[in-house]
Amino acid sequence: MSSNKVALITGSTSGIGLGIAKKFASHGMNIILNGFGEASAIEEIRAGIAKEHGVQVRYNGADISKPEEITTMIKTIEDEFGAIDVIVNNAGIQFVSPVEDFPMEKWNAILAINLSGSFHTIHCALPKMKEKAWGRIINIASAHALVASPYKSAYVAAKHGIAGLTKTVALETATFGITMNAICPGYVWTPLVEKQIPDTAKARGITEEQVINDVLLHSQPTKKFVTIEQVAALAYFLTTDDAASITGAMIPIDGGWTAQ
Ligand code: NAD
Repeated sequence: MSSNKVALITGSTSGIGLGIAKKFASHGMNIILNGFGEASAIEEIRAGIAKEHGVQVRYNGADISKPEEITTMIKTIEDEFGAIDVIVNNAGIQFVSPVEDFPMEKWNAILAINLSGSFHTIHCALPKMKEKAWGRIINIASAHALVASPYKSAYVAAKHGIAGLTKTVALETATFGITMNAICPGYVWTPLVEKQIPDTAKARGITEEQVINDVLLHSQPTKKFVTIEQVAALAYFLTTDDAASITGAMIPIDGGWTAQ
């Protein structure tokens, strides 16, 4: 039973993270939302989830690229709820460019948010999780944690880094009732994917429609985008007792992409 558990989902004001927050709330978990956006829109999301599922929903706007803001966020949650039971490291950004033109600030931001942010949430929250002798840490990695694509050097490097972090922390926590896994989605139709289409078209010298059909869906034998709901259902399964023996795993949900 996940009822009364407390779940922090980073980057949950949009896309996959928001889908996971809704799924967890539907199973009775109290939710900490995090991410950017317009204050009134975030409040509408927060209040909507709380009302629909009768759970407590908080919002914390910590910038996941800033370790000190992560530390403060974790402490705030622990002060109110005690230990955090479930952490989903989901916040992420993308930037597409040939490596020789890749702006250094984009490289630094992607590594900070997509990789180091996960280290910092784990680093801060693990002591209380260990005290409670129960925990679930789920990293939303990517098929790009397993294979590469051109023009995504920072993203692919960060996501491969997440694979190493996932395996290492899984080993360190294995006897503490804590599991740590990475979900590796293929392409999911979210703002993150939508926004990279014009730059990918530019980098490859093709049209935006060709990017969708010949680049994105070309990778996925099913020729379909993965849905947010499918990723959220897998994330929820990893929080259940049935998933207690799954740890240190990189789990693809990619329409067959990485089977090729
Ligand atoms: P999205 O753009 O819809 O959502 C990203 C979320 O991260 C938003 O809530 C945003 O506000 C938040 N965010 C961005 N920078 C942040 C920061 N510095 N601090 C806190 N929050 C921040 O994107 P999405 O597609 O839902 O992506 C979510 C995760 O899934 C990412 O880690 C992404 O790499 C991964 N992923 C996405 C796909 C896909 O096809 N969409 C595929 C594989 C993996």
